[in-house]
Amino acid sequence: MQEKGSISIHTENIFPIIKKFLYSDNEIFLRELVSNAVDAVKKMQRLAAMGQYSGNVGEPQVSVAYDAEARTITISDNGIGMTAEEIKKYINQIAFSGAEEFVEKFKDAKDANELIGKFGLGFYSAFMVADQVEIQTLSYQEGAEAARWICDGSTEFEITEGSRTERGTDIILHINKDSEEFLDKHKLDGILDKYCRFLPVPIKFGTKSKFVDDDTVEEAEVLDEDGKPLAADEKQPTKEIQVDNIINETNPIWTKAPADLKDEDYLNFYRELYPMSEDPLFWIHLNVDYPFNLTGVLYFPKVKNEFELQRNKIKLFSRQVFITDEVKDIVPEFLMLLHGVIDSPDIPLNVSRSFLQADSNVKKINSYISRKVADKLGDLYKADRKGYEEKWNDIGMFVKYGMISDDKFYDKAKDFALLANTKKEFYTIPEYKEKVAPLQTDKDGSVIYIYTNDPAKQDSFIQSANKKGYDVLLMNSPIDSHFIHNLESKLEKTQLKRVDADVADKLIGREETLSSVLTEDETAKVKGIFEKAIHRPNMKVEIEGLSPDELPVTVTTEEFMRRMKDMAQLSGGNMGFYGAIPDNYKVSVNGNHKLISKILKADNEALQGQLAKQAFDLAMLSQGMLTGADLTEFVNRSVELI
Ligand code: ADP
Repeated sequence: MQEKGSISIHTENIFPIIKKFLYSDNEIFLRELVSNAVDAVKKMQRLAAMGQYSGNVGEPQVSVAYDAEARTITISDNGIGMTAEEIKKYINQIAFSGAEEFVEKFKDAKDANELIGKFGLGFYSAFMVADQVEIQTLSYQEGAEAARWICDGSTEFEITEGSRTERGTDIILHINKDSEEFLDKHKLDGILDKYCRFLPVPIKFGTKSKFVDDDTVEEAEVLDEDGKPLAADEKQPTKEIQVDNIINETNPIWTKAPADLKDEDYLNFYRELYPMSEDPLFWIHLNVDYPFNLTGVLYFPKVKNEFELQRNKIKLFSRQVFITDEVKDIVPEFLMLLHGVIDSPDIPLNVSRSFLQADSNVKKINSYISRKVADKLGDLYKADRKGYEEKWNDIGMFVKYGMISDDKFYDKAKDFALLANTKKEFYTIPEYKEKVAPLQTDKDGSVIYIYTNDPAKQDSFIQSANKKGYDVLLMNSPIDSHFIHNLESKLEKTQLKRVDADVADKLIGREETLSSVLTEDETAKVKGIFEKAIHRPNMKVEIEGLSPDELPVTVTTEEFMRRMKDMAQLSGGNMGFYGAIPDNYKVSVNGNHKLISKILKADNEALQGQLAKQAFDLAMLSQGMLTGADLTEFVNRSVELI
C-alpha cells in the first residue's frame, strides 16, 4: 500500500502562514495533540461501554516522549486509531471550506486559539514546531491495517503501510530548527503542567532515546528502573528507554460531586493551585448542566491588602483541558478577584472577544455565577452571622464592588451587605436605617448617615458626633467612596456626610438652632478678632451658637465641595476646573463656649488675637492640619502662654 496525494486546499502552502501567525502561541501544539489523544482514548472507552467493541480496551494511556538526539516529540495513545481511509478523511481534508477564506481571515486573527477553533486546525498546529509530522496508527476496527502518514509541511503527503502492532496512534513531530527549545524536559514539563494537569486520562511523560552508537550512549543519561543513572557498560545501544511519570490528576475536585468532598479536599486543591497564598475564606462549588454546562470551584481569597489583589487567578478549562486564565467577560467583572477553576464545554473558547461578549451562553454563565455567589454569601450570613461578620473585612470589598457594578447583585446583597461603625458593630442596610433614623433625620425627612474615612484624623469630630448620640460609619476602604455614591443612589431619602462636613450640631440639618449668648455687637467683634488672627482667604469664619460643650473652634469642609475635590484628585487632577478648586474651609467659632467670652474680655487686642490664634491652631492640630512653620509657631506660642 502506498499512496501519494495532495491535501485538499487550494492555496499553495498554508503552513508557513500558520507558523508565522501563530508563533507567539506555538506551545499550544502540545495541548491540541494531547487532547486529540485523550479524545481517541475516551472514544475507545465509549465504544466498549456501548458494546460496539468486544476486544480488550486495556488501561487508558497517553504518553508524551521527547528524544533530544533524534529531535522528535512523540505523542502516543491507545485510543481508537485511524484507518488509512480515516486519515484521508479527517486529516487530509482540513475542516474548512475554502483556503482563500482562511488566508483572508488569518490576517486579522489575534491569537492561535481563535484560528484553531474556527478552522478545526488542532492537528495542524503541529506544524508550528515541526517541519515533518508523521502519524503511525492502527484502528480498533477488525481487520484494520496499520497506516503511516507523513507530511513535510507542504501540501504533499504520503500514506504507506504503518508499523504499529497495537491499537492506537503515535504522532511523531520532527522538531524544526526554530523550535528546539521544546526538546527540553523543563520546557515540556511546564507546558504539560499548564494545559494537561487535569486531563481525564493518565498522561505519561518521559524521554525516549534510541541509542545507535557508543558515542551517544556516553552522552545520554540513561536511568534504570529506580531512576538512577546506569553505568556506561550497562547501557545497551539500540535499546529504547523511556522514563515515565504520570503528570496529571485525572479526577480534579470540580469533576466530583460536592457531597463526596470534605473541606480538606477543597483546601488541598486550593493549596495545590496557589501554593503561595493563605487559605481561602470559603468556596463555592459550581455545578449546572442546563441550560449550559458548567462546573467549577470558586474561592474567596484572603486578601491582606489591596496591593495583593490579583486578577486572572481563575483558570478556565474545557473538558479538563486548560484554556486560559483570562476569564474576563465570562466571569463578572467584580468576581475577577476570586480564585479557582471554571470548566465549561459551552463557552466558545476560540472566538474573538467581541463575539464572546455577545454570546448568550456567556451572558447566562455570567449571571449564573453572580447569582451563585450571592446565594452563598446569603447562606453564610444566615447560618452564622458572627462568623460572617468576622469575614466581612475580607469579603466586604467584593460585595461592595458587586453592588456597585451589578444591579441584580445589589438586590440580593442589600440583605447581607454589612455596614460597620467606628465601634466595630455591624448592621445590615435595613438594620442601620432603623438604628439611626430617630436621631439622624433632617428637617426634610432625609436620614443622614455619618461616616469617617480616617478615624484617627477625624477623632475629635467622631467624639463630638457620638456625644450627640449620632453613629459614625467606617468607610475607609478604597472602594468606599464609590460605595457611598451607590448607597445614596439606591436608598431613598438617604444622604451620607463625612463626620467633618460640619460641626456636630449642624451635621443633621434640623430646623431648631441654639441661640448664641453673644449680642450682635459681640458677634461682629469676635468675628473680627478671628478673621484678623487667622487671615487666610480660604478660611471663612462663622460665629455660631452651638452647644456650650462643643469645641470652641472647629474647621470643616462642606461635603459636596470635598467630594468634588476628591474626584478631581482621583482623576489625577485632570478634571480641568475641578482640579483648580482650592480647599475651602469653614472656621466655626462656637459663640456659646466660655473660651470665646474669655477672649472678648481679654484686656488688650494683642492678647485677644493670640488667644484666637491659639484656639484656631488647636482645632487645626486636632485634625492633623497643622504642619510646618504653622506648627512651629504654635509650639513657640504655647510655650510663651504657659
Ligand atoms: P478536531 O480535534 O477539532 O476534530 P483535529 O485537526 O485536531 O481537529 O483532528 C482532526 C481529526 O483527526 C479528529 O477529529 C480525529 O477524528 C482525528 N484524530 C486526530 N488525532 C487523533 C488520534 N490521536 N487518534 C485518533 N484520531 C485522531
